[in-house]
Amino acid sequence: MVSRVIPVAPFDLVIFGGTGDLARRKILPGLFARFSSGQMPEEARIIGAARSDLDDAGYRKMIGGALKEFTPEACKDAELVTAFLNRLHYVKVDATGTEGWDKLKSLVRPDAINAFYFSVAPSLFGALAERLHLNEIANAHARIVVEKPFGRDLESARALNATLAEHFAEHQIYRIDHYLGKETVQNLMAVRFANVLFEPLWNAQYIDHVQITVAETVGVGGRGAYYDKSGAMRDMVQNHLMQLLCLIAMEPPSQFESDSVRDEKLKVIRALQPVSDEEIVRGQYQPSGNQAGYVEESGNPDSLTESFIALKVHVSNWRWADTPFYLRTGKMLKARASEIAVVFKETPHAIFGQKSADHPNILRIRLQPNEGMTLGVTIKEPGPGGMRLMDVPLDMAFADTLKGEEDVPDAYERLIMDVIRGDQTLFMRGDEVEAAWKWTDPIIEGWTKRADRPKPYDIGSTGPEDAAVLMYREGRRWRDIQP
Ligand code: NAP
Repeated sequence: MVSRVIPVAPFDLVIFGGTGDLARRKILPGLFARFSSGQMPEEARIIGAARSDLDDAGYRKMIGGALKEFTPEACKDAELVTAFLNRLHYVKVDATGTEGWDKLKSLVRPDAINAFYFSVAPSLFGALAERLHLNEIANAHARIVVEKPFGRDLESARALNATLAEHFAEHQIYRIDHYLGKETVQNLMAVRFANVLFEPLWNAQYIDHVQITVAETVGVGGRGAYYDKSGAMRDMVQNHLMQLLCLIAMEPPSQFESDSVRDEKLKVIRALQPVSDEEIVRGQYQPSGNQAGYVEESGNPDSLTESFIALKVHVSNWRWADTPFYLRTGKMLKARASEIAVVFKETPHAIFGQKSADHPNILRIRLQPNEGMTLGVTIKEPGPGGMRLMDVPLDMAFADTLKGEEDVPDAYERLIMDVIRGDQTLFMRGDEVEAAWKWTDPIIEGWTKRADRPKPYDIGSTGPEDAAVLMYREGRRWRDIQP
């Protein structure tokens, strides 16, 4: 088949934190995948930068090991791996010091696309931006990529935006949320806005409610000390779940272009109503057998931080009046699954008897694992015995649909290439992030002031009982969390 991959211009990509976990596990394997698919121009260079004492050869060895560890399948062609590793360079740089900046300047070509990935602790973002500027390393069209978390409240997000804005214009700043890089997320926009079928039904008149679930089976593990200062609301809801909600709830943008899309998402965030205490359930996983509970893992015996949260959210506009969005995310749950379920209303009149009313159409959008969409439709059960109804899925699993044509790219892989192409559509704008914190802050302040204790839940469960009650009392129920 004809390749649909759009080639990119020569670039120099500097990865600050190039020896770190994210760089080894996601960024470099993602770049290798693009290289393997022929999407990286001959002249492209990748420069790892960190404080570790390495040279080019040492860095290539480190990343060679990472590729083998994290993408063993992709490493079958040893020549290809070597060719990729030869693109790598390393500079020893201290974000807060003077060492290494001259060498970096000599390596970064002013006439290539310059991209700087800040894969370091957020406390170093300001120092990096400042040094890139002072040392005149970044050219006028340079892009910087900043990782989450982007602040921990409105005040810190504003401060971070202001610091970055001292050295880079908004069109140069790429705030990454890897959920937006998922194939399904973009397909959600295609399904909504490239088909006439869904959009007329995409409103409070036909949609009963929307559920967004991001469930993990892992605990906080070694990140306990960091996580305890954050919790599920800051770590997941303010960014990932909020972005997914925006894509479901937004109005059609006038074009698929970065500011048009982001303007529409911003309107959704600004339309979010405050959430009342009764509409929030927070939880903490309990120890079980030889498995540590949240409190042990976080190392804080008095911790009031939530490892699970469920909440009912209202978008106050014409389209969504009285159609709630239920969000839930947590650690140590029954299965690893991220999905959006758009639950349509029942038919206005049940001609096949009352039981037939209990078959709402559900559009299920799976983000992981097995990205894809399923539309549940109701049909007659085959065979004699009267008109009995059953639900069957119309399945669009991308892995099957696209088999043999193109591998579904990993989110990081796609997003990094968007940076090189200068496409900000799938990145968060500064005002979006601030609006998200503006909505989040009072909710967190509420439970902090009251010193609310999260409800206990069992490891391997679907969260605290109260989360089920949140739906149940309104005649709804969560979909099961399935892998
Ligand atoms: P990490 O494993 O701790 O790596 C941090 C990197 O920063 C290392 O390469 C470290 O190398 C470098 N570094 C530390 N201090 C430095 C300094 N003063 N100057 C230059 N380099 C310095 O962290 P990570 O997990 O990769 O996370 C990186 C960023 O991504 C963080 O903002 C994190 O919140 C975000 N993030 C990570 C993940 C993930 O899955 N890991 C997911 C989402 C977001 P040296 O010690 O050699 O300097």
